[in-house]
This record gives sequence, C-alpha cells and structure tokens, in this order.
Amino acid sequence: MDFRLTEEQQMMRDMARRFAEERVKPGAAERDRTHEFPVDLLKECAELGFMGVAIPEEYGGAGMDYISYAIMIEEISRACASTGVILSVNNSLVCDPLLKYGSDYIKKEFLTPLAEGKKLGCFGLTEPNAGSDAANLKTTAKKDGDYYIINGSKIFITNATHADVCLLFAVTDKEKGKHGISAFVVDTKTEGFNIGTVEDKLGINASGTAELYFEDMRVPKENMLGEEGQGYKIALATLDGARVGIAAQGVGLAQAVLDECVRYAKERIQFGRPISSFQAIQWYLADMATNIEAARLLTYKGAACKQNGGRCNKITSMAKVFAAETAMEAARKGVQIFGGYGYMKEYPMERFFRDAKILEIYEGTSEIQRIVIAAQVLSEV
Ligand SMILES: Cc1cc2nc3c(=O)[nH]c(=O)nc-3n(C[C@H](O)[C@H](O)[C@H](O)COP(=O)(O)OP(=O)(O)OC[C@H]3O[C@@H](n4cnc5c(N)ncnc54)[C@H](O)[C@@H]3O)c2cc1C
Repeated sequence: MDFRLTEEQQMMRDMARRFAEERVKPGAAERDRTHEFPVDLLKECAELGFMGVAIPEEYGGAGMDYISYAIMIEEISRACASTGVILSVNNSLVCDPLLKYGSDYIKKEFLTPLAEGKKLGCFGLTEPNAGSDAANLKTTAKKDGDYYIINGSKIFITNATHADVCLLFAVTDKEKGKHGISAFVVDTKTEGFNIGTVEDKLGINASGTAELYFEDMRVPKENMLGEEGQGYKIALATLDGARVGIAAQGVGLAQAVLDECVRYAKERIQFGRPISSFQAIQWYLADMATNIEAARLLTYKGAACKQNGGRCNKITSMAKVFAAETAMEAARKGVQIFGGYGYMKEYPMERFFRDAKILEIYEGTSEIQRIVIAAQVLSEV
C-alpha cells in the first residue's frame, strides 16, 4: 500500500492550500460576522476547477479523481468551513448525481454550467417533518401532460439563497411510499420557486441556508432525474458518496484548530513558560494530531472507494462520523487551550467551535451514520 499522493493530487493540494491561505482565509471571520455569501470567491473557485473537481472535462469539470476532490474541500475548509460546504454541495450533492443519472439534456443544460461554476446548485431533500426519515416527504409532483406540478416546501437548504439550480425530491406516487419519490432538476427562476426564511444559525454563517417553497411550480418532464420512483434511491446513493466531502470538511476544520493551537500554545506564557511546555497541553495536541491523521486516512479511503465504484456506504459513513467528531472534539479542546481568549470573538477558536457542530448533524447525523455502519457490520459475519 502506497500512502503517497499522486502528482496530480499533490498539485491540487498545493494549489488549494495557496488559494485558501491567500484568498479564502483573510475574509472568513468577516463573512462569519456579516453572513455574506462568498459570491466573488466562488468565481475564483470556478476558474480553478473547484466547482466540479471529479466531473469529466467534457461536462465542464476538472476531470480529477475523488481524492483530489477531498483534498480541495479539506484545504478550503481549513480556511473557511462555510466556503467548504458550499463547494461540497455543488460538487457532491448536485454535480455527482447529475453525472450519474442525468440524460444528455440534463448533462448539457445543467451539469456543464454547474461544473464550470457558471451556475450554483443546491440539494433540496429535507422538509420540516422529513429529516433523518427522508422517506417521509410531503412535497408533491403531479403529472400534467408534459409537466409536473410541484407543491410543498424544504428547510435548511445550503446555498439556497444563491442557487441557480435545485435538485429536489418530491412524491409522485403517495401509495408507493419511498418508491413513489422522484428527483427533479429545477431552474430556480421557474415561476413558483420561492426562497423563504433565511436561517439564522450557530455557525457556517456564510453558507446561505434557507427554506424553499413551491407553489404550482411547473417543471418539464425531461427535468426528472432518472426514472419516476427512483428519487429516494438517488438521494441515498448521493448522500453515501457526498459524506466524503463532509468528512474532508471535518479534517480541514480540525487541522485549522490544531494549527492555531500549536501557534498559540508556543506563544502564550503562564508561570514563566509557554503553555506548550505543560504536559496537559501537549497531550491535547497529540490526541488532536492523531485523530486528524486517522480521520484523513478514512476520508481518503472513502474517496478512493468512490473512485473505484461499488458500495462505499460503510467506509464513507465511518469517515463522516469520525471526522465530524474529531473536528468537534478538537474545537472543544481548542477553546480550552486558548482559555478565556478562546471564548472571545477576537480569536478564531470560537468560530471553529460553532462551525464544527454542524458536521455531526447534516448529510446524516452521527446517529444515522452509526446505523448505516452497524447494519453493514452485522451483515458481514
Ligand atoms: C446548516 C444546515 C444545512 C443543511 N443543508 C441541507 C441541504 O443542503 N439539503 C438538505 O436536504 N438538507 C440539509 N440539511 C438538513 C440536515 O441534513 C438534517 O437537519 C439532518 O439530516 C437531521 O434531520 P433533522 O434536523 O430533521 O433531525 P431529526 O431527524 O429530527 O433528528 C433529531 C435527533 O434524533 C436522532 N434520530 C433520528 N432518527 C433516529 C434513529 N432512527 N435512530 C437514532 N437516532 C435518531 C438524530 O440523530 C438527531 O439526534 C441541513 C441542516 C442544517 C442544520
């Protein structure tokens, strides 16, 4: 087994790290304060191929592998977790399923501009009464000639405030339960597509999370992704793969915590010496570094599994839950290492602490990841 990155992956690491350090990190605290969506930064991301890293060049992507994609998300999230999730949604939750299930029309009209970064995507699955239980959707899509008429609402949708395209899930046949759910690729300028409340959140403040509601929205039948009734399967398969992106976000955020902690611990003097000389602090740093490395390896293994095809839900769930909990625990210890300064907005640690929490919730909570892992483990022996 060779743990070295390929030349292409190394190139992605260098490019993303430089861009993150020079362009993403400087405004991260300000965007957290103002909640401003990073529109201009995303244009620069598009030029670097970050909007569709693993999408083939013929559909506007960078044509790289999933490990390169994970590396990009990791490096960007190390600078700004909000920008990390915006990119993760566009790449994994929108471009990926459009590549896998889209017709030639969908690939040309929607996937290509999304992967090029000329358009931005969002993923509309969650509803007020359908979170972990994603099969319990109430949004309906009724066939009317060559159109479907969509009515209903979605909540907590990342990128919703700025998206041009929404991959949304709606019930086409109530009698069939989860087999009666279908997926639609919708232009957000379609009449009847409305943005509702923009959420005021604990963290990832610049990621444009909002409610969506649909009123007699007419969507052409060719905008259905896959077959009628395939929507739930598409949603679950998409989330299985997308967990690599959120795991990478966790690795990047945890690494940012460690970077800042090492710097601070060497500078902060108490009892006449730097706090980095105290064993308690050294053990915190050692545990953080060890868990980050383990989370990174799980994430890259998940990405490699996705690259090779086949069933990856166990490893991507392991990566997601472990990286999320690593980031949260690192941020908790990070605030502790910074002491009272860690609690102040003047320092980045409290933002890391607030940003880290979401990793244990979205794209499947930690409890749901454990259900997925346990089901696999129990079926293996
Ligand atoms: C900032 C943010 C951004 C988001 N972005 C998007 C997006 O872009 N698109 C989208 O579609 N959704 C998005 N979501 C929704 C997110 O995926 C859901 O919030 C998440 O799946 C959990 O659903 P819920 O909030 O309804 O919690 P619930 O499902 O109500 O869960 C509540 C608690 O019960 C636990 N629980 C539920 N079922 C079980 C079970 N069977 N066994 C054990 N424990 C269980 C959960 O783990 C959790 O602890 C976002 C959410 C947030 C907060």
